[in-house]
Amino acid sequence: MSEEAPTPTTGQAEFLAALIDAGHVFETGVPGVYGHGAAYERVRVKLESLISEAAAEDGAAKLKFPPVVPRVNLEDNGYVAKFPQLAASLFGFDGSEADAIKQGRIAAAHGDWSSFQGQTDLMMLPAACYPVYPAVAAAGPLAAGGAFIDMEGTWVFRHEPSYDPARRQAFRQHELVRIGAPEDVVAWRMAWAQRGLDMFGDLGLASSLESANDPFFGRQGLLLAANQSAEQLKFELVVPIASPEPTACASFNYHLDQFAGIYGLSFADGSPVHTACVGFGQDRIVLALMKAHGLEPERWPSNVRTLVWD
Ligand code: ZN
Repeated sequence: MSEEAPTPTTGQAEFLAALIDAGHVFETGVPGVYGHGAAYERVRVKLESLISEAAAEDGAAKLKFPPVVPRVNLEDNGYVAKFPQLAASLFGFDGSEADAIKQGRIAAAHGDWSSFQGQTDLMMLPAACYPVYPAVAAAGPLAAGGAFIDMEGTWVFRHEPSYDPARRQAFRQHELVRIGAPEDVVAWRMAWAQRGLDMFGDLGLASSLESANDPFFGRQGLLLAANQSAEQLKFELVVPIASPEPTACASFNYHLDQFAGIYGLSFADGSPVHTACVGFGQDRIVLALMKAHGLEPERWPSNVRTLVWD
């Protein structure tokens, strides 16, 4: 299949070239799949600690999953049906010894060897929180107060080749998940939207909070959002990076009882369970910092360096 990516804007192409020149980003030959240098990773890891420390103060428990997910998980939660263009399944060799020799010859010539491959039980993980819901459900009824899980930075994959340095196929998403009583879950999501807005402000990023339906701006927007939070299932903190439109760098998602229903999440007394997740796009936030403050973190404003560099 073709792997063509849309033509980048001048701003996107120039920012990508500057990141490569500075040794922050290393190309692999496939658009949207990059390696990263030491300074870039240092900022990302500090950012992860900043978020995890705040989550730990609120009692979050860490839980990590690999960047692949059972296929049945994305079939059950509707991802394959809703996002066929982004979903990526893993295939493995499925043939005879003679087929293996043929496949090897075709591969050596960079031809199409897909006819020797069969679908496995795995897919690439497209959102870090997806494995959490079935895992928590399998552990039995929730304890009183529900669960708060910190997944730290997790590699996720979405099949959308792009030359926008902020639109990756493979990227790190730091997800926090809350599973509990509906009112607790709603309040938790709004508290993290406030925390995210404050954190981006402390990092010197010009962010605004938007919903999928209406644009919200700044603190006033947060109040508006809080008033209608039951109807607004997705908020995003958007920050200018390299595209004409600002880029979503964090999302605050309320799933109502969708995942609870699919996986049978429950309290022992049968009272209703809702879920929400907060996703910080680690790579996008690092890029937003480099766009806002320059490509040399050691020269960033001292208050920003204190948070994500020193
Ligand atoms: Zn999520």
